[in-house]
Amino acid sequence: MRKIEHIGIAVKNLEEANKTYAALFGKESYKQEGVESEGVMTSFFEVGPNKIELLEGTNPDSPISKFIEKRGEGIHHIAFDVEDIEAEIARLQKEGFRLLNEQPKLGADNKLVAFLHPKSSHGVLVELCQERV
Ligand code: ZN
Repeated sequence: MRKIEHIGIAVKNLEEANKTYAALFGKESYKQEGVESEGVMTSFFEVGPNKIELLEGTNPDSPISKFIEKRGEGIHHIAFDVEDIEAEIARLQKEGFRLLNEQPKLGADNKLVAFLHPKSSHGVLVELCQERV
């Protein structure tokens, strides 16, 4: 793993959260993108070399809607940039980590992504992401 790629924050209302975070950072979101397979709408902010992803569930079955129902709004996941996601998945499985998806899938921001089960990592949902070329 090379660096934290972004931090994901679950929000109830993306439009409102966009305003809040634009005021916080002093600049607008640079990208908004839906990931239909996950039932989420995302919005990305750049903060220096770092990124923040806001996520709103677009239907009640979305993992984000369920997260908010159980735990309220807040930090949802930490994403790490990896060079070779398949190699990293294989390495982590060997280390005994449980993955929510063993095959990389298409995520927001032109990335291939995979998630570790939060129980594997002391309550933190870890996302691996590899830039698609
Ligand atoms: Zn993410």
